[in-house]
Amino acid sequence: MNHLPKLSPKVAPWINELEAQPQLLHRLLEKYGSPVNIHFPKSMEENYRDFQQVFDEYSIKHQVFFARKANKSKNLVEQAHSLGMGIDTASLGELKDCLQMGIAAEKLVVTAAVKNRELIRLAVENQVLIVLDNADECELAQEVARELDLHVNVAFRISGFEVKGKKLYSRFGFDVEKISEFILRYLLRKKRFDCLKYKGLHFHLNGYSTQERALAISHCLDIAKELKPHGLVTEFVDIGGGFLVNYLESQEEWVHFRAELEKAVLGNRAEITFENNGLGLSKVNHELHGELKIYPFWNSKSKGAFLKAILSAETSQGNMLSERILKSGIEVRMEPGRSLLDQVGVTVARVAFRKNDSRNDWLVGLEMNMTQLLSGSADFLLDPILLYQNPDVVKDQEVAVYFTGAYCLERDVILKRKIALPKLPEVGDLVIFVNTAGYMMHFFESSAHLFPLAENLYWNRKQDRVEFADFQTDL
Ligand SMILES: *Cc1c(COP(=O)(O)O)cnc(C)c1O
Repeated sequence: MNHLPKLSPKVAPWINELEAQPQLLHRLLEKYGSPVNIHFPKSMEENYRDFQQVFDEYSIKHQVFFARKANKSKNLVEQAHSLGMGIDTASLGELKDCLQMGIAAEKLVVTAAVKNRELIRLAVENQVLIVLDNADECELAQEVARELDLHVNVAFRISGFEVKGKKLYSRFGFDVEKISEFILRYLLRKKRFDCLKYKGLHFHLNGYSTQERALAISHCLDIAKELKPHGLVTEFVDIGGGFLVNYLESQEEWVHFRAELEKAVLGNRAEITFENNGLGLSKVNHELHGELKIYPFWNSKSKGAFLKAILSAETSQGNMLSERILKSGIEVRMEPGRSLLDQVGVTVARVAFRKNDSRNDWLVGLEMNMTQLLSGSADFLLDPILLYQNPDVVKDQEVAVYFTGAYCLERDVILKRKIALPKLPEVGDLVIFVNTAGYMMHFFESSAHLFPLAENLYWNRKQDRVEFADFQTDL
């Protein structure tokens, strides 16, 4: 067998406990169908504490808002709320849900990319802060607030921060160079938006640079300074999400995988991905072109450490950013989605069939489809866990497989990676995909072919034993 690179996932203890209960997992899939998403909301607490500790270390006033668009389960909103977090809502449905759950207005924020009148109306009626993206939105918020004879709390989303002489492009937000003048002109001088009550500034950057985020915070503090003499007080700067998660155990495996992928794309070894997919790389004239379009599944600065790298960055004045923030008295808000969901969920699917395709590769058909494990990344680069009904392995049974899905598309291959297994699974065996709660389960799920959406369970553990009755469907 041509050695396939491994990518061993980080696995929280609760997942190991489930793994040790195959009968229970089989029962859950019998009852709820395949695949099933299982959540352990308690894991959110650890992730939250990781951020809090960093803020506390620097004595920075802060509030964390869970970006619930990363997972649609209400239970996780409930959990975030009970831990004291706020909720970042990205649609009318999400906001409605949160209000119905009794979450207070000051614990909510609306950052939806498109805000129609109904959403703005609901926010204004309930006095939920809206993060405004453009002048038309300001107009609409003003109009709705005027009709209701209310004011509306707003923050302005900004983008176009200059990093190393180049502006960071984003389709979202106001340009950083123009926002002060816009606010001063329309909220103060012309009173065109006199129902808008300025509360703060917001950004959410693409990518995972701590340096860019530090620079963006500095810019926001500059803007706050410009606005202050005019009586416009910046209560907070919201730094959005995008805090890294480390999914993998080993840097060595990560480096090795990427090296092997390059070799495979160049034709210098057997393929390690379906149809030798380069995950962004391709071979042109015997050379590698393009760049990997994958999430940095292994990284050395995740969650709290990522936040710390931002806050401890050096400013252009030579002091630490955290000191500048502290001196300003401004609260730092953040909206993590993925990072609060680290080790919160798994997706479990049942093997439907095994077969040899015309290239003589093994395909393992799963009772699930590609949209039930799909992210913006070119592949989900974690080895799955196999639960064999008969775990005995005699030697030389090792096999390499592709996992395929139920949509009638050639490209419904659940993982693009070819996976080495100790032996071929049997029909009815289970496959556990680890750490899927952030974006993987829900963001792109669809029910083409009239397949029902996967059931979402949460494990509300009440004792030290693993009990079937402790697994409940989402609220
Ligand atoms: C998606 C999004 C987030 C959350 O991003 P993560 O990468 O999940 O942390 C936060 N804020 C805004 C405005 C977003 O669009």
